[in-house]
Amino acid sequence: MAKQTYDALIIGAGIMGCSSAFELASQGLSVAVLEKSAIGGGSTGKSSAIIRQHYSNEVTARMALYSLRVFQRFREVVGGEAGFRRTGFVVLTPEKDLWGLQANVKLQRELGIRTELLGAAEVRHRWPYLEIGDLVAAAYEEESGYADPNLTVQSYAVAAKARGATFHLDTQVTNVRLAGGKIQGVETTRGAFHSPVVINCAGPWGARVARLGGVDAPIESCRVQVAFFRRPPAFEPDHPVVADFKHAVYWRPETGGLTLVGLIDPSEKDAIVNPDRYRETVDFEFVADAGERLVSRFPAMEQGQGAGGFAALYAITPDWHPFIDEVPQGSGFYLCAGFSGHGFKLGPAVGRMVADMVLGQTTEGIDRRLFRLSRLEENDPVRGRYEYSIAG
Ligand SMILES: Cc1cc2nc3c(=O)[nH]c(=O)nc-3n(C[C@H](O)[C@H](O)[C@H](O)COP(=O)(O)OP(=O)(O)OC[C@H]3O[C@@H](n4cnc5c(N)ncnc54)[C@H](O)[C@@H]3O)c2cc1C
Repeated sequence: MAKQTYDALIIGAGIMGCSSAFELASQGLSVAVLEKSAIGGGSTGKSSAIIRQHYSNEVTARMALYSLRVFQRFREVVGGEAGFRRTGFVVLTPEKDLWGLQANVKLQRELGIRTELLGAAEVRHRWPYLEIGDLVAAAYEEESGYADPNLTVQSYAVAAKARGATFHLDTQVTNVRLAGGKIQGVETTRGAFHSPVVINCAGPWGARVARLGGVDAPIESCRVQVAFFRRPPAFEPDHPVVADFKHAVYWRPETGGLTLVGLIDPSEKDAIVNPDRYRETVDFEFVADAGERLVSRFPAMEQGQGAGGFAALYAITPDWHPFIDEVPQGSGFYLCAGFSGHGFKLGPAVGRMVADMVLGQTTEGIDRRLFRLSRLEENDPVRGRYEYSIAG
């Protein structure tokens, strides 16, 4: 049997597990990634993978910016391809959120994010095909876009392997072993693995894996959907990524002349499902609803054709922000889950933060204490300077 003792074990080969493996292996640690299905087989492989920096609190905005710089130079920094496409990103807000939009753009600009406020006339001028109705202002990030989540996670895995990490696929962690409050390793469907460090990157299964080590983490697995529409010929060329907070909808271009549409809707947290057994096909009602929201801003899509969709999972926490913490302190059991539908773009920063956490270091410019598990019982949830929805 292969060597089963490592400096660190990572549970889950999504973007968080693979970027953490890459960073830890780059620091010279021997790392094994244990994955019950395949690389990217959880939320990551089905992510819309939009990369924007529009966040309303400083820490997440810094994480998004750090990660954008990695996506922009992915081949140099990680190796391989992330499929990053710079399309620009437009945020549209209704009048009641104008003040908040201005406050958030100010915060982002102070951090070095290239974002600008646009008035209604400018929006109309740049994207004449948009129906802007009572829109007062928008923000635009010229550097943002989206990536290919499968390419990204595979590239991270290849780069981690090149630095000595091993990947054990089809290997489900069934127990987490502790002795005297210290991590000893895990048991899996393919035998025991030994290590003083276990990192839970299990996404929508994060609460279950935490429970294996005696930790309660409020992470719900929730079913969300996306739909595709074929653009009519006049619009085949392209469009930016758009987040429309009035209609609670986002859309981005997809290959093949398609537009991918999803919701930005707080009620998505109510669709709690068993992550091992949920309907992965899209609901007819969802396609109709997403189509209506899209057409209300992009009327030409009335002539577009529905092209299916699918359902996937968000790992949602009560404040829609992740847990990145050692629980309990000094145990060697680390939690890195609960990214609440917006984690993909943060993946590069999170890998770095996890490596720093395991090595007892701080991450320059990013204070990970914001994401401690105890914040909720301390009544100190992660909050933005001005929140207009669940955008973080
Ligand atoms: C439809 C959709 C659209 C999204 N759009 C965006 C977006 O536009 N931008 C953005 O930034 N984010 C987006 N997200 C969110 C983003 O994709 C996630 O936050 C991110 O992929 C989470 O990565 P992860 O590594 O934490 O989890 P996952 O990718 O779910 O990985 C967890 C892995 O753990 C494995 N695992 C679980 N339990 C065990 C066990 N016991 N033993 C071994 N392995 C185990 C699973 O098989 C899985 O592969 C979207 C998500 C979805 C579903």
